[in-house]
Amino acid sequence: MTAPNPSKIVIDENGDLMLSLYQILRKDDETETFIGVNGKKIRGTIVATMKVSRQVLMDNSQPFKVEFTGKRWSETFASTIDMEADSVNSIEVVMRVLHGIMHDKGNLYEISIPDVWEVIQYCDYREIEVSKLNGWFTRWIEKKNLKEIEDDDMVQLYPCYIFDHAKGFATMTRRLAYEVSDHITEYNPTEYRHLHLDGNVIGSLNGAKGSLRSKLLRGLFNPVGGYLTQHCDCKEKSLFAYNLALSKTGIWPLHEHYKKSVQDVLDSKGFANWQAKIPEGACSTCRSKLTSTEVQKVRDNITNDFHGLCLDCMKMTKSGDIDADYWEHDLRKAWSSGCRITHSQPTWYFSFMGRKSDMNKHKAQKKANYEARNGFYDSRYF
Ligand SMILES: [Zn+2]
Ligand SMILES: [Zn+2]
Repeated sequence: MTAPNPSKIVIDENGDLMLSLYQILRKDDETETFIGVNGKKIRGTIVATMKVSRQVLMDNSQPFKVEFTGKRWSETFASTIDMEADSVNSIEVVMRVLHGIMHDKGNLYEISIPDVWEVIQYCDYREIEVSKLNGWFTRWIEKKNLKEIEDDDMVQLYPCYIFDHAKGFATMTRRLAYEVSDHITEYNPTEYRHLHLDGNVIGSLNGAKGSLRSKLLRGLFNPVGGYLTQHCDCKEKSLFAYNLALSKTGIWPLHEHYKKSVQDVLDSKGFANWQAKIPEGACSTCRSKLTSTEVQKVRDNITNDFHGLCLDCMKMTKSGDIDADYWEHDLRKAWSSGCRITHSQPTWYFSFMGRKSDMNKHKAQKKANYEARNGFYDSRYF
């Protein structure tokens, strides 16, 4: 079957290969078939054709190379191949990037988020180096206002990770740590279950979230402990005044605070506009704890504590050795030196995990170095 108006997309005017893209449009219709290039019946409907260069495909994808240099291919040397396409837009983006022929026409920088995931899947399936599309993705995401993303837009997290977009990834991970009350999990809008962040990323993000929460509790409850060790006559009245003001923040009731996100608590009226009634004749120590200046300081510190996860710290090694990097950073206290975003110490701390693949490479390298030096492998060191 051929759709009424299959779009004819020309990626390369002088291309020597036509991709005939088909989709299964009617899931329950067994009669939806067409005769493929190889003369066999294929289930689906042809929705588009795309003129490309065979050499470009071979240069960028091992599976294509295998296919085009195989025996069957050299016998037939067909100029058209049938290809199932879940998203024509996504294949067009990949093909245009590989051919170096992007243009501003059309909507290639405005494709839907599920189509962005399809781009990743297509690259994964055809073993195309996904980093070649980083530039395209940067323009795609820059069309969005990262500060105003909705919760549903969090599906951009994994694409930011894959296309190495440091600012987008930091913005989104920061929001997750501050705005989620439950355990943070990843959301994948596709059926491709193998597409997900490395396992330690979500763990670190939950760690960052927990750390913010404990800083919040510490910041608000520390003064209570302070009153208990004071010797002045006004401490009882002041402690009551402090607790009354505290009860108007989002942290109260304490046993339910975990149902709220850190941001909910920070934004609560009682916290943002802290008002404690200072008892008459209270001493200066009591007074200072009751003022909004102190509480505001706690609020500011927590708001600026975590800047999201940093892709550069995650991928570190800058000096070529992960261990050396770790200690050098700790020594210099220059938490974001050499990173694309400026960030705090907690961002460095929770990001410094090394991507699993980089980490494994690093460990294998260390092991090989050790063996080369010592002529044997010692499991105690690895
Ligand atoms: Zn006092
Ligand atoms: Zn960094």
